[in-house]
Amino acid sequence: MVLGSDVSGLTTTAANAAAQGLSIVVPVYNEAAGLALLHDRLSELARALRQRYGLPCEVVYVDDGSSDATLAIARALAPDALDVQVVSLSRNFGKEAALMAGLDHARLGAVLFMDGDGQHPPDLVEKLVGHWIDGGFDVVYTAKANRDNESVLRRLAVHGFYALINWGARQKIPEDAGDFRLLSPRAAAALRQLPERNRFFKGLASWIGFRQVRVDYEPAARAHGVTTFSPGRLVGLSIEGLTSFSVAPLRFASLLGVLLASAAFLFGLSILWETWTTGKSVPGYPSLVVGLMTIGGVQLIMIGIVGEYIGKILSELKARPIYFVAEHSVKRVETEVAAS
Ligand code: UDP
Ligand code: MG
Repeated sequence: MVLGSDVSGLTTTAANAAAQGLSIVVPVYNEAAGLALLHDRLSELARALRQRYGLPCEVVYVDDGSSDATLAIARALAPDALDVQVVSLSRNFGKEAALMAGLDHARLGAVLFMDGDGQHPPDLVEKLVGHWIDGGFDVVYTAKANRDNESVLRRLAVHGFYALINWGARQKIPEDAGDFRLLSPRAAAALRQLPERNRFFKGLASWIGFRQVRVDYEPAARAHGVTTFSPGRLVGLSIEGLTSFSVAPLRFASLLGVLLASAAFLFGLSILWETWTTGKSVPGYPSLVVGLMTIGGVQLIMIGIVGEYIGKILSELKARPIYFVAEHSVKRVETEVAAS
């Protein structure tokens, strides 16, 4: 039995890389207002890429159960300079699932992930493609050049999150890398092979290895509407990322337990010592209550952490599909073909 996976056959040299083409995956959830504009920019981009590298492109719009006109608008988009696929999920499965659906439907070699709200500048894509075709990199990821518009509290939280998730990890997840990234054919193939249902794309894309390179960019303001990621949802995503990607919280729990137990032991010793030397017993009611509450609280937190992991095991065990496709269409640049 082979326990590893060989994707070396998909190695790209500058000469054959361009021939394999690029699939641009765009998850869209209630993005009706900006979709047509985005599509125009992507068509322009595809023309530039074809001219410069002879690179054929397609775009895969994954409608993540939008409740507005997103799907209708996406269906009507013309395959002007690039093929257009529209994959409509049966309900809102969340961005990670939408990205996975896009990755599964991408038919060309390399895959680029990009938000549908205009925050990921299409102008930058040529540079990302250059790193892949000319530079021979497999994972070209981007990071926000600054976080000036975010609160100190949020930046601290982000910092703490990465410190925890990378604690003791052999392959570190780069801090503040975004979902705007390009994968070479073999990196995309590797990502497709990961079997887990709980997906944390940033982590997985880093975990697969290969040659990775970072590109900094200034994120644009959202073209319209507001972010769909509320603080609550971000906390959820962080817990999801942490528990599906690292055992650091469990290790942290054990460490804290050891620390608390040692402190209690030392405290016990000091009481013994005091009683022995002074002959008085200490009236320790307050310290008793504090100690009890600390241990009780810490235990509840730790049980919660363990519970998160057990929930994860349950959902992996159920092995449900990550998403359902309700509708799928492909439009090619010259001829129009509708499928299923
Ligand atoms: N998105 C999605 N499903 C969701 C939420 C968001 O496919 O359940 C898409 C959304 O349409 C956008 C991208 O994910 O293209 C990023 O979402 P958003 O701009 O709300 O997040 P932020 O940029 O604030 O991280
Ligand atoms: Mg956004």
